[in-house]
Amino acid sequence: MAKRKLNKRQAWRIEKIQQEKAQRAQRKERDISEQLNAGELGEEIHGQVIAHFGTQVEVEDQNRDKYRCYLRANLGSLVTGDKVVFRPGPETLVVTTGETVRTGVVETVLERSSELSRPNPYNEIKPVAANIDFIVLVIAPEPEAHANLIDRYLVAAENCYIEPIILLNKTDLLNDVSRPRFDDMLSTYEELGYRTLRVCSKEESSLGEFKEFLNNRVSVFVGQSGVGKSSLIDTLLPEEELKVGALSHASKKGRHTTTTARLYHFPAGGDLIDSPGIREFGLWHMNEDEVLHGFKEIRHLSGYCRFRDCNHEKEPGCAILEAVEKGEISELRFSSYKRILETLTEL
Ligand code: GDP
Ligand code: ZN
Repeated sequence: MAKRKLNKRQAWRIEKIQQEKAQRAQRKERDISEQLNAGELGEEIHGQVIAHFGTQVEVEDQNRDKYRCYLRANLGSLVTGDKVVFRPGPETLVVTTGETVRTGVVETVLERSSELSRPNPYNEIKPVAANIDFIVLVIAPEPEAHANLIDRYLVAAENCYIEPIILLNKTDLLNDVSRPRFDDMLSTYEELGYRTLRVCSKEESSLGEFKEFLNNRVSVFVGQSGVGKSSLIDTLLPEEELKVGALSHASKKGRHTTTTARLYHFPAGGDLIDSPGIREFGLWHMNEDEVLHGFKEIRHLSGYCRFRDCNHEKEPGCAILEAVEKGEISELRFSSYKRILETLTEL
């Protein structure tokens, strides 16, 4: 993205804002260290960030007690899902709500096992959640799941190195025509090594295997609008109904990029990190290398073409075209790969 040239006055203003930010950070650090010196902070505890509010994070300890935590100045930015070491501080009264909350100071952030990133409003790719085990890609017969769209989500998941699982929801809407089509489609993905599951969010009895799958893991639910993500979450998190409703309501008003991701505990076990922004995961600009990386069966052949700059179109000795011809790469996946590359040049 081209940098806009700033005039003197703008540059001066930005500088001033930066200085003020730095001063605020120093003041915060001073307040915290004053508390520290006064012996007001307790022993170090392990916890996990379950929500993020500007300069503070909500951290939960192993007993699920919650703390409003400040961050040490050198920590960088934390995201929901981060595992941290923090020291509890005094209880504080929140004037607006009349509640008392525990406070604390985050001392250390532990290394992330994974990061889910997406572009911020300035088009910079930034992490929005950490330590996620699975991306649950929800699809449905209605709105119909096109293979090409599924592949786009899979490309995004492959590029985050988080395992995707394909969940077909609304199985009650399958009929004699669509059922075999979905069976075929899902078996193509299973052959590639992706897990698939079938559920109907309206029938809780159909969710048994899925609940087992979610247990002991941290998941995010992604997929196009209307496939039933909110309904699934409502069923799996009955007590959080209001919050989930509030989230989807916010997204309809277009405030999605500002709504923070939150970590929820499924009563049947396992955690969900959710935000409207996360639900849209994957539908943004990618580059050619990322697209190739996203198709695992194509990626591992790309080094074997005769020409190093092979476009895999009609070049002789193209390992990928040969594999398509032999049926080792499915034609559908190959045309999907081409299709996604084409849309890159259209943008
Ligand atoms: P989201 O946009 O992915 O969050 O989708 P919603 O949860 O808002 O669901 C979209 C529509 O699909 C709603 O009208 C739901 O009632 C409906 N829906 C969700 N799950 C099912 C299902 O398993 N079967 C059927 N028939 N409809 C469903
Ligand atoms: Zn080639």
